[in-house]
Parts: sequence; C-alpha cells; structure tokens
Amino acid sequence: MKEFLYTAQSARVIFGAGAVQYLPREIELLGAQRALVLSTPEQAHDAERVAQRLGKYVAGVFAKAVMHVPIDTAREARAEAQRLGADCAVAIGGGSTTGLGKAIALESGFPIIAIPTTYAGSEVTPIYGLTEGGVKRTGKDPRILPRTVIYDPELTLSLPLGMTVTSGMNAIAHAAEGLYSKDSNPIMDLIAAEGIRAIAAALPALRAHPRDLEARSQALYGAWLCGTVLGNVGMALHHKLCHTLGGSFNLPHAEVHTVILPYAIEYNASAAPLAMTRIAAALQARTAAGGLYDLARDQGAPCALRDIGMRSADLDRAADLAAANPYWNPRPIERNAIRELLQRAYDGARPP
Ligand code: NAD
Repeated sequence: MKEFLYTAQSARVIFGAGAVQYLPREIELLGAQRALVLSTPEQAHDAERVAQRLGKYVAGVFAKAVMHVPIDTAREARAEAQRLGADCAVAIGGGSTTGLGKAIALESGFPIIAIPTTYAGSEVTPIYGLTEGGVKRTGKDPRILPRTVIYDPELTLSLPLGMTVTSGMNAIAHAAEGLYSKDSNPIMDLIAAEGIRAIAAALPALRAHPRDLEARSQALYGAWLCGTVLGNVGMALHHKLCHTLGGSFNLPHAEVHTVILPYAIEYNASAAPLAMTRIAAALQARTAAGGLYDLARDQGAPCALRDIGMRSADLDRAADLAAANPYWNPRPIERNAIRELLQRAYDGARPP
C-alpha cells in the first residue's frame, strides 16, 4: 500500500426526506440567531418557504445567486447580510447558491448551512470561486466549508430530468478523478467507488420516474460521497478541461462535465489502470470510458461538445489553454493529444 495523508474535514450532515424541518434546530446548535437565506431567482419560492419555516431565526432572503459568483453579487449579498444584522447564512440550491454562501463566509466568517438541491457537491468542499472582470478566481479555505449540510431528497424532486442527469455526471466526475488523484487515499477510494455506484444506479431509475423518492435519495447520497472526494483530493485533466471550456467559452457547467468525462477518462486509461477497473466495476460496465458515455447517452444527456454550444473554430485555442499550466495528471498533458481529445468530444464518438 502506498503512503498517504488524510485529514478529515468536519461537517454535520443531516440526511432524509423532510430533513429541512430540522433547520431551526441546526441554526440554534450553531449558536446563531438570524439567518440570511440565499437562493437563485429561479428558486426564490424555495427560499421563501424556508424563511417562513424559520420564524424568529430569519433575517431575510437574498434570491440573487447566479452562476460563477460575480464579485458584485457577492458584495451586494455581504452588504445585505450586514444591513439585516444576519449572523449566519442558509444556502438552498445548487453550486451557484452554495458558492455565494462561501463568498459571504470568506469575508464575514459566518457559519453556512447548505441545503443542496443539485448533485454538484460544493456543500462539502472548502473550494470557492469568484468572478471579477470576466475571470474566475478559485481558492481553498477551510473557513468557508459549510458547517452543517441538510440533504433533503424531497427538495430535489423538482430538478428537471436533463439537469438531474448532467448534474449526476458532474458528481461522478469528482469521484472518477479522485480515484487516480496524486493525493488519493484508501478512504476516498471507497467513498468514490460507492458514490459512482449510487449515482449510476439512480440515474436510469430517475429517467423512468423523475419523482421516485428512493432514487432521488440514492442520487443525493451519491452526490454527497462524490462531493466529499472533490473536497479531499486534487483533481486532474478532466476538471482542468471543464474549467477552461466553462470559463473561456462560456459552456454550461454540468453539461460540459457530462460531455468531457468519457474522453478525459479515456485519455488517462493507460496511465491509471486500477482507477479504470474501479470505475468500470462501479458502473457495471466493460470499460470506464465506454460505461460513462453509455450512462450519459442512455439517459438522453448531450454527448458532443458541438451540441452544447462549442464552436469548431475554438478547439485549437481550447487545446492551447488546457495545455498551459496543467494540473497534475496521471498521463502527461501533451497539447496535440489534448487537441485530439477535444475533437473526439466535439464529434461525440463513443470511446471504446
Ligand atoms: P446551479 O447552482 O447554477 O443551478 C442551475 C439552475 O438550476 C439554477 O437556476 C438553480 O436555481 C436551478 N435548480 C437547482 N436545484 C433545483 C431544483 N431542485 N429544482 C429546480 N431547479 C433547481 O447549478 P450547479 O451545477 O449545482 O452549480 C454550478 C456552479 O457550482 C458552477 O459555478 C460551479 O463552478 C460551481 N461548483 C463549485 C464547486 C465547489 O466545490 N466550489 C463544486 C461543484 C460546482
């Protein structure tokens, strides 16, 4: 067994259908009294419902979260928290809303309670992102890790099927790359394999019955596990490519993860054979890359970059950007091989 270092990150996790009812108790346990409830404009009704539940513990609602946390939104939310005398924040939504909560915590040190409603996994990572002047800056800070996470699968029943599948593939991407991470450890490997298994089992069930609460619970459980891997070990080529394509070409976050994942895994297959065996086993597939492609395609998700807004003329620049300042990766990053990977992802041909 190789040497490893593992630092457990503490978060209190409450999981179960209807678990959002425990929110007032959880605020009290944190020693807080006035919560600012955060959401996107699309989920303002969820935020209002949560605020109503909070009674004396609510300071107000800020329903202006948007993708990639623009610095102006973060500043406005911080000012609103101050104006309302808030002493904690409740983020109900996906990665964009959790990200806004983290941006508030970064300056104020407020405790954050996250109530995730997608499978992105941000609620269990100390990673933040802030966008200023069109450039997204990311960083790590243990102080922004949400202190309490409430996973209530009932709140995910409304997640549209398309986003359910792409968000599930986004989660699997964290676990798949975690399995060949340079700082992987046996605990994270177990968590990653179980996370992939849970989501891969849930997605076909959700395609058949999107409001199946048991399948929703399995998917959310898998998302927690996969997010935990993202929060604990370093990511590699796949996340670098998605960061580049999302940031520089404005491609939608979960879709770009869905399309790229099989090709990034194919690229790394020969350099990380044990990870490939584990991914394939968790998917019950013959190969990791082919199994990931089939999982996405069979649930109706996009499988080609050209179908999610990428222009063929931008592939060369994307390869240049992705090959510059690369993350650590099990197989060396070669610009021409990356250009080929992007072409295959652009065309959407199934990897073997
Ligand atoms: P999102 O938070 O942007 O949500 C997309 C849309 O879906 C929003 O309109 C949202 O309101 C809506 N939505 C969410 N849950 C819903 C539900 N249950 N029912 C109906 N609508 C719902 O999407 P996301 O993919 O969760 O997050 C993407 C962002 O999170 C990106 O900016 C990404 O970089 C970031 N992220 C960060 C981390 C991290 O560790 N810091 C991890 C993963 C993602």
